[in-house]
Amino acid sequence: MPHRSGVGLIPDKPSWHINLGRLISRPPLVMILRSGAPQSSASRVSTTNQILKAFPEETRRRLHANLELVRLPARKILCEPGDLLRFAFFPERAVLSLLGLTGDGDAAEIAIVGHDGMVGLPIVLPINSTPYQAIVLMDGDAHRLRADILRAEFRRDAVVQIAILEYLHRQLGEMTRSTVCSRYHDVRQRLCRWLLIVHDYAHADAIALTQEFLGHLLGATRKRVSHAAAELQDAGCIRQRHGLVRILNRRGLEQRACECYHLAREDAVESPPSPLRTASSATTAHAR
Ligand SMILES: [Zn+2]
Repeated sequence: MPHRSGVGLIPDKPSWHINLGRLISRPPLVMILRSGAPQSSASRVSTTNQILKAFPEETRRRLHANLELVRLPARKILCEPGDLLRFAFFPERAVLSLLGLTGDGDAAEIAIVGHDGMVGLPIVLPINSTPYQAIVLMDGDAHRLRADILRAEFRRDAVVQIAILEYLHRQLGEMTRSTVCSRYHDVRQRLCRWLLIVHDYAHADAIALTQEFLGHLLGATRKRVSHAAAELQDAGCIRQRHGLVRILNRRGLEQRACECYHLAREDAVESPPSPLRTASSATTAHAR
């Protein structure tokens, strides 16, 4: 039975998120800030999203008429496990979380998506079905693109393929790290890592968050999250007030975070050159 407004999905799935659902109070609709503008020779997409920025100028000009700038409100669910995606989302200032769910509705976060990523990777895969729930952590804007248009560009343009597949590789790395992290690192270390990642994406020191919701993201009880947050507050790293967590001492969080945060940062800086990218450059040079 349909239970959502059609953000970009075929709403034919029952709600799995029984526990998480009570933390999400009637999420508002996605607001379209700017529809795709008619294409002209001068049209180009203004974006901070790293994937869209990696697309060739010609591709971005072609997509200008189809990319919509939308506002994603906090706690908005963009897709559920098993959904067929009708849109891809490329965050600008919005920050999203990908969650694995149990049949009882408990959740654990497997990846965070910000301005260097996208929601909708299954669109370019042979099976367009998402295994996770995507929910908006921090409200903000994102570019939205119809699935059939993204799929067509992916098939047509090697540079688009490389940009998306390189992100797929980074996300697989993050999911692997999240699995190890939740098994071996304690809640305080994981909380520090989580705050640092969101801080990197959000460009803001204050994060709207309840400990109950954070517990769902980290797969921990509210009591354990509350204890860990109190320790960080006593150490002067954060201040919690009225549902806001304010980051006061980023260096202190870095010192207390598990290795996962630091490894991810090193990966981002030291990623080896993609053989696909090298092959594409050689093909382009040869064509000239
Ligand atoms: Zn960890």
